[in-house]
Amino acid sequence: MGFFDKIKEFSIKISEVENSIYGGKTDYLEIYERNLQLEKEIEQRTKELNVANKRILTLQHILDMMNSAKPLQSVLENIVNNIQGELGYLHSNIIRVNSDENGDYMSVLAQSKDLAIQRVNSIIHNPMQKRRLAFSSDSFYAEALQDKKIVQTRNFEKALRSILPDLDDEIIKEAIQNKMSKSLIIIPLYTRNNPFGLFCVFSSREELSKTETDFLSTYAQQIEVAITIADLFETVKSQAVTDSLTGLYNRRYFEEYLAKEVTRAQRQNQPFSIIGLDLDFLKKINDVHGHAYGDLAIKTIANILKKNARSIDIAARMGGEEFNVLLPGVDSKGAMIAAERIRKAIESEEIETIGHITASIGVASYLEHSDNIEEVMELTDQAMYLSKRNGRNQVTLAKPIAETSWQEIAVNTFIDILTKHNIPIDNNLSNEICEKLKNNTQTKDVLYSVADMINSIYNPLHSEGIMKSKVLLAVSLAKRFDLSKEEIDNLRIATLLYDIGNLMLPKEILLKRGPLTDVEHIKMQEHPLIAAREILKPISYIQDIIPIIEHHHENWDGTGYPGKISKEEIPMTSQIILIVDAYFALTEQRPYRAKLSPKEAIEIIKKESGKKWNQALVQEFVSFIDHDLS
Ligand code: GH3
Ligand code: MG
Repeated sequence: MGFFDKIKEFSIKISEVENSIYGGKTDYLEIYERNLQLEKEIEQRTKELNVANKRILTLQHILDMMNSAKPLQSVLENIVNNIQGELGYLHSNIIRVNSDENGDYMSVLAQSKDLAIQRVNSIIHNPMQKRRLAFSSDSFYAEALQDKKIVQTRNFEKALRSILPDLDDEIIKEAIQNKMSKSLIIIPLYTRNNPFGLFCVFSSREELSKTETDFLSTYAQQIEVAITIADLFETVKSQAVTDSLTGLYNRRYFEEYLAKEVTRAQRQNQPFSIIGLDLDFLKKINDVHGHAYGDLAIKTIANILKKNARSIDIAARMGGEEFNVLLPGVDSKGAMIAAERIRKAIESEEIETIGHITASIGVASYLEHSDNIEEVMELTDQAMYLSKRNGRNQVTLAKPIAETSWQEIAVNTFIDILTKHNIPIDNNLSNEICEKLKNNTQTKDVLYSVADMINSIYNPLHSEGIMKSKVLLAVSLAKRFDLSKEEIDNLRIATLLYDIGNLMLPKEILLKRGPLTDVEHIKMQEHPLIAAREILKPISYIQDIIPIIEHHHENWDGTGYPGKISKEEIPMTSQIILIVDAYFALTEQRPYRAKLSPKEAIEIIKKESGKKWNQALVQEFVSFIDHDLS
């Protein structure tokens, strides 16, 4: 496909995005306007290209690379490699001019691969491409960029010294001893009227003719177009609101819209509902008929959702085989009717080769089930999950939050721990926490904040809100391993309580910066588990929780503690706590180290796959966190 076809295709893509944005959403008019402007700019660029010298064949190469899949970097590398050898050019590079808190600087974005640069790099040791280069206002580079003109110089020494002012004279002298290069040509690069950087060409000629100037300007224009288009692609991609496979809204858009809907619902005191839907047995469809048919099943569901949604409903593909529909102004009764209609429509559709498919659906309503939107989403998910467990191909209405009993158990457990047992918590504080718990049993957040408070008693670095994140992560993992509702509820409580034994640990050990002595290490390992057991043993109604906590330091390969049990002997719930705990510990600050990024934490966890934890669990965990990061 020729370049102009590509430009056209790109314009069409932009229009598509615009259209989907325009689909009745006035909120997005602004993006629409912006894209319209961008499109005009592309049109303008296209015209410019039309008049550019079409005989220069090397340009065709650049244009062939106008492909969204190619990162800017490789496009630019191709550009500099293409010009090398043309018209006696020896070396060329594209330099970006940037600024940060330390001022203006330059960095090499791309450079042609040749012996000359290899020689220079070996002389100056740290390669040019890896260096931060100075951008001084009296240099040739600044002159070219500021005056928007092509600068040619034979003074290599000055040129090099200005970008690497720290280099010794001898090194500079040695580096510029190249008999072939007679001049350096510096061409300014501007994109959308903003200074971008410089295109530098080493020539074997001393003089620069008018035609050559024209050629280099045209060539630089192509670089500017490449950069502008790459930039536009990025902008358009990041503004995309639809999913490419199904044309439904994507997760990003759904979440943005959801947040707005919450505000609207609160203002008007009007409910809205969420339908959560998951395709049944997709894995089997993929395995039996191939991935393309799996995709077809997903598309079929998307089409049914589109057909069944009112114009104000937001139907979105949240990822994989998971869909959500937001029904503004609709209560749970209405949403159940809509969900049932969708379920029936899916069930009765006949798909080529696959035959019939089904979906499991959950429904929850904002303000009706909870006035906390995260809870509503979680309840939708739980209801969908219940549909799966009860045999799939059905709709389940979420249980109101007050009926979910695990949190009552957790609240009572905390109250029991604080009032009946001998833990070293100040009396006033424990009374205060108990009051808080007794008066607010309706919302989960009180429970989480109490758990946070208790954790910060023995861990001063504990960050607020982490208990909730831990529980949500643990539950999401458990669902992927088909644990029963009882097991999941036990896991939630165990996640809140597994470190409670730390309350009995001497503070000096917890906060110690240096390495622990052997005795301290054993104490550190065993003590909290023993203490947790002692603290929880007198509470009759949580006896199922104790084994989960007791085994949450057992490793998959049997090297953990205290039981040194391995593999399936370890409760899955304990393994989940072990991995969730490790992840949060790694991403939290410790007295002896800084906090790690999620990516770094995942790398560490991956290393122990099959050793510390079950491989399947690590896989699910990584995909879960990756998904969250993307
Ligand atoms: P369940 O009824 O319990 O939902 O079973 P399932 O097989 O549908 O669900 P599970 O979550 O175990 O597996 C989902 C599979 O869907 C895993 C993944 O390979 C596949 N999948 C996810 N996204 C896509 C996609 O975009 N296209 C296709 N063809 N398959 C996908
Ligand atoms: Mg599924």
